[in-house]
Amino acid sequence: MVEKPEKAGSAAPALVWFRDDLRLADHPALAEAVKTGRPVICLYVLDETPALRPLGAAARWWLAGSLRALSAALAKHDAALVLRRGPAIESVAKLAKESGATTVHWNRRYGPGATVDAALEQKLERQGVSVATFQANVLHEPPVPGKGGKPLMVFTPFWRTAQARGAPRAPMPAPRRIQGVKGVASDDLAGWRLEPTAPDWAAEMRGTWVRGEAGAQQRLGEFLDGELTGYATRRDRPDLPGTSRLSPHLRFGEVSPFQVWHSTQLAADVATHVATHVATHGGRAQRPRAADAEKFLSEIGWREFCYQSLHLNPDFHIRNLDRRFDRFPWRKDRKALRAWQKGMTGYPIVDAGMRQLWRTGWMHNRVRMVVASFLVKHLLIDWREGEAWFWDTLVDADPANNPASWQWVAGCGADAAPYFRVFNPAIQAEKFDPDGDYVRAFVPEARDAGGLFGRSYPAPMVDHQAARERALEAFATIKSSPAGRTD
Ligand SMILES: Cc1cc2nc3c(=O)[nH]c(=O)nc-3n(C[C@H](O)[C@H](O)[C@H](O)COP(=O)(O)OP(=O)(O)OC[C@H]3O[C@@H](n4cnc5c(N)ncnc54)[C@H](O)[C@@H]3O)c2cc1C
Repeated sequence: MVEKPEKAGSAAPALVWFRDDLRLADHPALAEAVKTGRPVICLYVLDETPALRPLGAAARWWLAGSLRALSAALAKHDAALVLRRGPAIESVAKLAKESGATTVHWNRRYGPGATVDAALEQKLERQGVSVATFQANVLHEPPVPGKGGKPLMVFTPFWRTAQARGAPRAPMPAPRRIQGVKGVASDDLAGWRLEPTAPDWAAEMRGTWVRGEAGAQQRLGEFLDGELTGYATRRDRPDLPGTSRLSPHLRFGEVSPFQVWHSTQLAADVATHVATHVATHGGRAQRPRAADAEKFLSEIGWREFCYQSLHLNPDFHIRNLDRRFDRFPWRKDRKALRAWQKGMTGYPIVDAGMRQLWRTGWMHNRVRMVVASFLVKHLLIDWREGEAWFWDTLVDADPANNPASWQWVAGCGADAAPYFRVFNPAIQAEKFDPDGDYVRAFVPEARDAGGLFGRSYPAPMVDHQAARERALEAFATIKSSPAGRTD
């Protein structure tokens, strides 16, 4: 039942449509709506139409916590988060009509989301409702073109060109006051059943993450005070707390890349200043962090690069960017896929990664590369199977980063790793988990080398050398055909 909202004064409300930007600070759409002086309706729509790739289970779990947090933050302003379910084109247009809103504000998205938004914009304009859109979720909106005007699809020139555009704008504070609108009908979040109950597979995830904007800010602060120092060297070590773990927060826009960029620069500047002071005046030495900050921000740059790919190839979670791979002789092997998903391949570093994913909804980047390479090269299973599994199990499952990274590992993506580079899992483990702490944490059967391949832990499901040769032979069958890239 839709109730008629109680109008605050006679002013028509402004509608703010939240999507992957579940925060109050550095939210230009919200800030602009508040600035109009009109009462504001804050809306989130659960749109499960196939064109938008419905969220996987772990991401739905994250979304529930993030919406709860946003709702609580708005309540402190005496404003509500209105929840609606259905195709966004209908839901947003309907609420605009019901509430008499004359403007809808949103932060722009890219890929299939942008297509939906363009159609909605037309519909709203026919209804006499204007649309105001803003850049909020990437530092550099795609396409970032090169000298010839063509979008850059090689990372290094992409990031160099993007950075040459100048420093990203400063982040905005959260609005001091939001004048909400009372009485707008809303779904009940619990009714969406975003979180598991029986079985409750999210218990360990709840203990690992603090969903929502405050959790994101806390994580960012801790990272800048802690793991940022040494990031450039420690980021490849899954056995150490060496990275930011901001990915799900960035995925759902609980923190913006502008906030991350500026606070990282500030932390690096402060550290350099302290180091100079120590060198001049003595005292406890603190390492300057310029190289760490630069490396960390280049990872934010990879995120931007993935969004450029998504913008240019909205269907790239199902389509090889290098069309030679359309003829790749993938093997269909449900049993092998299952063993990989369950972390029972007999390769401890692969299994540790897959179990970390299952238990916590996240996996370290180095191990993501190892497990993805294993699926695609050792098992010769189509990368799309792995991408789909990650989509369902990652709390940071991202429409740009996930397909881009899978295509990168498989060798068919933009600026991809060459197919013939086949990771040796044992060497990867030796290099990046030298004491075996990471493997031990997730594959306790691996406690002592003698008992490694005991009753409860399988022997390696494929021989590394034989698998490598098989992968190279498979690649040879497509290598010579024209690349036929479409990007
Ligand atoms: C097969 C595969 C699948 C992946 N799927 C996803 C995904 O669905 N969602 C996702 O956010 N990342 C994905 N990544 C990229 C990367 O593994 C994660 O972003 C990173 O591990 C998250 O941890 P962090 O926040 O501690 O990263 P940090 O090292 O602290 O990096 C900071 C931020 O930069 C971005 N970032 C870092 N590395 C990359 C990268 N290689 N590509 C794009 N952005 C990056 C992320 O937003 C990350 O939060 C995938 C990588 C691989 C190899």
